[in-house]
Amino acid sequence: METKEKKFTHLEKWQGTLAACIRCGYCFEHCPMFKFTGWESDAPRAKIITAFGLLSGALTPTPEAAEKLFNCFYCKRCEAACSSGVTLTEVFTDAKQDLKEMGFKGPGTTSITQLNCAHCLICVGACPHEARSHGENGIETDPAKCQSCGICVEVCPAGAAKMGNTFGTSRDELTEKANDFLNSHSSAKAIVFACNWSYYPDLQASRLPESETKDNAYEILVNMCGGRLEAQVLMAPFLNNAWGVLVACCPEGDCQHEGNVKAKKRVANLKRTLETVKIDPERIHVVEIPAGDKSLFQAEIDTFVEKLTTLGPIR
Ligand code: SF4
Ligand code: SF4
Ligand code: SF4
Repeated sequence: METKEKKFTHLEKWQGTLAACIRCGYCFEHCPMFKFTGWESDAPRAKIITAFGLLSGALTPTPEAAEKLFNCFYCKRCEAACSSGVTLTEVFTDAKQDLKEMGFKGPGTTSITQLNCAHCLICVGACPHEARSHGENGIETDPAKCQSCGICVEVCPAGAAKMGNTFGTSRDELTEKANDFLNSHSSAKAIVFACNWSYYPDLQASRLPESETKDNAYEILVNMCGGRLEAQVLMAPFLNNAWGVLVACCPEGDCQHEGNVKAKKRVANLKRTLETVKIDPERIHVVEIPAGDKSLFQAEIDTFVEKLTTLGPIR
């Protein structure tokens, strides 16, 4: 690919910050990207080392290096875990800006627009990071500004806005994972959707080995925001004999996208839908869990599964 010669003028200001990373690796277990691929090169620490290498000249900018930096959900879990207070996502944004100006393309986790775009411009107004615009080539996303929040995907009436790489968290992938679990475990009762942005990594870090988990009564599936769980995703498990669906979000006021408010409204609507087909509305439930409160999360799951056990399977 054609790339322009250019210095890392945006990244430059982070020289001291890049050196502040002591390579401890505390950020690892919190990154959804690393959890999905298992590659150290996808972990936050590797991104910082890559940025450091690019700035110092030890690394040559390549499409492969650029791709690593364009792959980030901006969940900021790495920043919360960093023992040196490195503001990783701000570094990534400037690195992406430099790479973009050199001619490297995203999209990584960046939003992309498909041919079925209706040019309604709804996503342009809805993007909280001013990353989407309408130009000669239709709707475009600035990969340096996009923070992969998925709001454009949610508001697009044409289904034309998509995330470049969802790393296992898209509607289809979540539905497939839920169905696989329900169809392969005779003891399966519930699907638990857990928001990565709030507390999920803490829970996963403390997860018990598979053989010790409540006889596989439930499966926890990570998603990038409770507000992005569409009705189809939440209802699909019921078509595969789930006894119930639990949605876990952060408390109101804690979500920068108000995804928890949206999730609660959606679950309230789905309760009404269940009632119309004579299914107990308690079979779908939403809980608010403060960041990192894995005891409360586990208690809520146990309570929900106990309730489902009392209700029995849907007949
Ligand atoms: S912001 Fe989230 S996705 Fe991006 S590197 Fe940090 S933990 Fe990983
Ligand atoms: S994913 Fe979020 S930040 Fe990126 S273009 Fe869509 S609305 Fe904007
Ligand atoms: S909301 Fe969807 S259909 Fe409308 S302009 Fe954006 S991508 Fe196109």
